[in-house]
Amino acid sequence: MITHTHDPLFFNASINRVKYSKNGSSDKNCPFCDKAQQANIHRIQDDMVWLDNKFTTIEKSQMTVLIESAEHEGDIVTYDQAKNRELFKFAFSCWQEMIDSKEYHSVIMFKNFGPMSGGSLRHPHMQIVGMADVDAYEEIGTDNFVGLEVRKFENLEVNISERPIMGLAEINIILRGDENLDAFADAVQASARYYMNDFLDGRCDSYNLFFYRIHGKAICKIVPRFLTSPYFIGYKIPQVFTDERMQEIAEELRARL
Ligand SMILES: [Zn+2]
Repeated sequence: MITHTHDPLFFNASINRVKYSKNGSSDKNCPFCDKAQQANIHRIQDDMVWLDNKFTTIEKSQMTVLIESAEHEGDIVTYDQAKNRELFKFAFSCWQEMIDSKEYHSVIMFKNFGPMSGGSLRHPHMQIVGMADVDAYEEIGTDNFVGLEVRKFENLEVNISERPIMGLAEINIILRGDENLDAFADAVQASARYYMNDFLDGRCDSYNLFFYRIHGKAICKIVPRFLTSPYFIGYKIPQVFTDERMQEIAEELRARL
């Protein structure tokens, strides 16, 4: 048993209460549809907007939101290829700008989609969060990104974690260097579509994307979301599928990449 774990993030509950009571989740109250509600904008490109999150719930952090599209019901799963590639280019550029500012110990980027993902707003968005004192990668190991190979081409690799962070089937998309961001965007889109449309006969309605910049690589981990396993909540024991099922998933995904 280890004696020390990750320092917690301090969650500011009073701010979060305002968020839910004011906005709810409906279209007409959506703060990302309503341009009048958008302030502290950092960058705009086409219908994508990168701005401060008004509702900062984590202390000593800069929380920002990247609105992906003007379309309230949009998502990576449904954008056409060109739109999805533009989104990745824009998001990576915003993320890098925050990393380059050197004001934060860690800058993380992620996306919640669907009721089980931890997100509170339907409107498609990513979050880019700079944390002053937290090393976000402290408990993440390089073994969390290796696994059963699905496909490898040029500087891009797609695999399914054999040592997932939480489980069960975490897809890793790994880009070495900065070339081929379009192919990276395509692979993330194909994987998200696989989880939302085909995996478990379409019973999965939520996913997360987590982005990492480690050792000169850009990594996206795609996690389909269900009720979290008590093995993980209580004991931090991740679950994996059997080898046989993992091979099946790899085959199904390979056919879509
Ligand atoms: Zn909206």
